[in-house]
Formats: sequence, C-alpha cells, structure tokens
Amino acid sequence: MGGNRTLLDFLFDHSADGIIVGGAMGQPLQVNRAFEAITGHPAADIRTGATPSAAAARDQLAAILAAAGSPFWSGMLPCADGHDRRFDIILTSVEEGAFGAPCTVGLLRPGHGETPLPDQRFGHDPLTGLPNHVIFLDRVERALLQANRTGGSVALLMLGLDRFILINDALGFTAGDRLLVEVAQRLTDCVREIDTVVRLEGDKFALVMALAAEDDSVIVAEKVLTAIKVPFSIDGHEVAITASLGIGLFPQDAADGPTLVKQADTALHHAKLSGRNQYQFFSAELNRRARARLDLEARMRRALANEEFVVYFQPKVRAADGTIVGAEALIRWNDPTEGLIRPAEFITVAEETGMIEEIGAWVLRHSCRQNKRWQDRRLPSICVAVNVSTRQFRNRHFVETVRDALRDSGLDPSWLELEITESMLMGDVDTAVSRMNALRQLGVGLSIDDFGTGYSSLSYLSRFPITTLKIDRAFVVDVDTNPKAAEIARAIIGLSKGLNLDVVAEGCELPAHVKFLTDHGCRTIQGFYFSRPLPADEFEKLLRRGVLAQPTLSR
Ligand code: C2E
Ligand code: MG
Ligand code: MG
Repeated sequence: MGGNRTLLDFLFDHSADGIIVGGAMGQPLQVNRAFEAITGHPAADIRTGATPSAAAARDQLAAILAAAGSPFWSGMLPCADGHDRRFDIILTSVEEGAFGAPCTVGLLRPGHGETPLPDQRFGHDPLTGLPNHVIFLDRVERALLQANRTGGSVALLMLGLDRFILINDALGFTAGDRLLVEVAQRLTDCVREIDTVVRLEGDKFALVMALAAEDDSVIVAEKVLTAIKVPFSIDGHEVAITASLGIGLFPQDAADGPTLVKQADTALHHAKLSGRNQYQFFSAELNRRARARLDLEARMRRALANEEFVVYFQPKVRAADGTIVGAEALIRWNDPTEGLIRPAEFITVAEETGMIEEIGAWVLRHSCRQNKRWQDRRLPSICVAVNVSTRQFRNRHFVETVRDALRDSGLDPSWLELEITESMLMGDVDTAVSRMNALRQLGVGLSIDDFGTGYSSLSYLSRFPITTLKIDRAFVVDVDTNPKAAEIARAIIGLSKGLNLDVVAEGCELPAHVKFLTDHGCRTIQGFYFSRPLPADEFEKLLRRGVLAQPTLSR
C-alpha cells in the first residue's frame, strides 16, 4: 500500500457514504466515521457488539457481506437509537485488497425517503445529543488553538462512571441509557456554554474547557463529582452512582491534543485505581496541591466543630481626637498545630466549597454578641462592621441570617454594619438592590469595602442604598508619594461627600497617610497607625480607654 495508505485513509475518513469492510467470513472489520454518524453506532460498539442494537446490526451486516451474491442490498438495519431504518448498500468484493486478504467493501446510504436519526448531526451521539468521539479530537485541537492564540490554558477532564455495568445488569440497558442521558445533562449544567461535553463511548465522557486559572479545573472537578452524586430517579428507582475523573492540562502537561488525551486517560485510570469517586491530575505537582486543598477543607470543617475560629477587632478611629467610633470584625483561625492563620489563606477555599456560609454566619453571630456584651458592660457604643462574602450575600436566606444574629444577640441593628464588595453588586442587579433594601430596612449599615478596586461602575452608587465607602488600602499606602493615588483618594472622598455617604480610609500606617486623608476631609481612619486587629479582650481594653492617643502597634 505504501504511500497510498494515507490517501486511502483520507477517503475512508472523509467519505460522505458509510463504508464498511468485511473479512472473508463477512465479519465487519472496519467502519468509517460516516457509518458511525449514519447508524449512530460507534465503530468499537460494532466490533464488540457492545449494545444489543450494535450486536444485531453487526450480525446482520456480517450476513449481508458474506452473501455478497448480488452487488446491491436494500433493507432495514437497527440503529443506535433503538429504531430500525432502511439502508441501501452497494457491495464490492476485493480479491487481494487493502487488507492483504480477500474482503468485501460495502457503501452504505440511508434508504430513499428514510427519516434521519433524531440527532444525526455529524459527529453527535444519538442517545445524548452530545458530540461524540468522532469529533472529540477536533474539539480538543480547536480549544488548544484558541488557547495558543490567547495565551490561556485548557483542561481536559476525562470522566468514567464508577461501576456503571452494575446498573445495566440490575436495571437493564434501557435504564442504563436513560441514566447516561441524565448524566449528560448534569455534566452540561456544570460547565459554561463555551465548553464542550463529549460522550466518548459507553459510560465515558470528556469535558474540554478553556481555563482562566489552574484552580478552576479543581472547582469544576468538584462540581462534577458532587452533581453526579445526587441520586438519579430512573423508572421509579433511585439510582446512586459516583464518577472518577482524570485531568490533563494544556500547556502545563501536554503540548498537543493526542498527548493531552492520553494523559487525561492515564489520570482517569489512576483515579479508578485509587478507589474511584475522586479526581486525579496527570501532574504530580497538581495532585499534591489538590490534596492540600482537600486537606485544608477537611481541617476547616474540624475547625468549625472545634471552635478554632476567632474574631479579631480593628478600631476605626475619629482622627481628630483619637476616639474609637467603630471596629471591623476580622476572622482568624487558631489552628492547634499551625497557629494563627490569616483569612487570605482560607477564605477563598471556604468560598468555593460553600463553607463560607456557615463560617460567615458564625462571624456575624459572634460579632453581634460581642458588641452587645461591650454595651452591657457600659463601654462606649460602637458600630461593628462584618465582612460579607459574595456567596453569603447571594444566598436568598442572607437577610434572615442577619436578622437572626441581631435577634439572638439583642443588639440594636444600628450598631451593625456589613462590608460588601463591588463585585457582589454585578450580575443580578435587581436582586442585589432588593436584598440591600431589606438589610437597610432592618436598620444595619452597608459599606463598600475596597472601593475603587472592583469593577467600579459608578452607576451603582446611585442605585444601591449604601451608607459608607471604604477607600482601599492600595490607594491609601501611596497617598503621600504617588500623585495618582492621592488624586483617587481625594476623588473618593469628594464622591462620598456629594452623595452624602460616610467615608473610611483603611490601611493607614503612617502619620503622613493620616494627615493627607484628614486634610482632605476623611475623618474616620482604620489602620496599623492606630491599631492592628486585636483579640476581643485586648480590644476591650482600648475601648475602655475610649481614646487612642498613641498608636498601638502591639500585634
Ligand atoms: P478587608 O475586609 O479589606 O480587611 C482589611 C484587611 O486589611 C485586614 O486583613 C486588616 O488586618 C488589614 N489591615 C488593616 N489595616 C492595615 C494596615 O495599616 N496595613 C496593612 N498592611 N494591613 C492592614 P485581614 O484581617 O488579613 O483580612 C483580609 C481580608 O479577608 C479582609 O479584607 C476580608 O476581605 C477578608 N475577611 C476577613 N474576615 C472575614 C470574614 O469574617 N468574612 C469574610 N467573608 N471575609 C473576611
Ligand atoms: Mg473589610
Ligand atoms: Mg478592605
């Protein structure tokens, strides 16, 4: 065959007609992509008789090819969707053909007037409607090309259902098929529209996705595993199943499509060997990081149960006379082995895993109680500000959570403020506005934290019922040296005056910061210049004094 081999391959792969090649006894040796698209049967299924309809089609085709008496056959063949359809086949016997032995070649077309498969788009799986293995590599290559152009990366997640065969055995193929359709739907729900979900064969799927950050693949992997774990309802049976995932990354792991596919496959194999119901990266380093993340998650759960979280308080000070007028509640994690852990190291993971809701509710309750306790001890009344994460804010029970914390503590709502960030206000604006109105109606204050660093859209300042702006530390640290930062700080102060909002500068460390900000009309200052965040009892001592004459740089 020599050089003709590639040309033959090309014709075989790109022919619009289905091609089927049978051995001397008629047994089908090979079918092309068009055959797969027209009948819905993957080549592997035809070879192995993997499904009842593929086995029936194979046996019938073997008989047609073996007879080969007449050059033309027309009749019904079982398709992958379970229906029989009419096909025409032109048969040619090849004496000493491309396969080095006598064989029969059949060209297959849908019979005249035949309705196509329900989803007979080329390269799509008729059962689930997803792209199939025929165009899989093409989709991978396309994603890589795109990533190359934009300098981004691509994650390939290979998914296998764990012990799917047991479902087929227990409930039958039809139930198995129905489960696959549901799985396909859940996988599609887990990804964005620009990503691709492919059904490769049987219970094996692949997800091809462009990545903004490496950690995104972890987030999707966890989302997928969680989504599959929710029991399915199939023919009145509750069916529980888990999945294993192998993840390959481009360009970190592989430089081309076929290698990436192989690596994701290897990783899937590892996931199955390591006990299933989990994901594995191809790269050892990424596996180590993913394990560390899982470990952090487990430790955080324990920390909640063991009350290892503590709230520190950092004063907000009226610069003119050093009076403490408020405090920001800042969480710390007192880990028994690692000591004090700062929020930067765990808040993001808590957000992603959803644990932030529980942790955040705890901080709220705790801060309200603490503030009420100070008031009960006749200390000067101050407003305590609690940070709220996006996920907490978006929860439709959030307002109730706040109301409960207030009721439970007996704190008057005017002594509570919630710090939210600009990014929380993006997206579903109407819901955000009504949620904020409900919070304002409770009587709590609302400040925008890190103002100027988010997707600053000034329009929200007029739409959202905000009470305070907090100038981000990024501008404050530079006010005395960088004219641009100074100008921004000045503009924010002007803006808050014009809109009748309070303004707080956070992150003031130096006398020069305090001087600049107060000179320009920002009267409330928070920062190491006055005090670091302190444990409740130490903060109480400051509050008892009431005035911070000297900066407290104890911690
Ligand atoms: P944030 O809300 O902007 O809090 C201010 C951060 O700046 C705090 O860091 C505080 O310790 C630090 N800071 C204050 N003054 C100065 C200063 O003069 N110099 C410097 N270098 N830093 C200063 P922290 O406590 O590590 O908290 C970091 C972030 O973690 C917070 O930023 C907030 O976004 C988040 N966070 C803290 N506690 C909670 C919480 O209970 N819930 C949620 N969702 N997020 C929290
Ligand atoms: Mg804050
Ligand atoms: Mg801030």
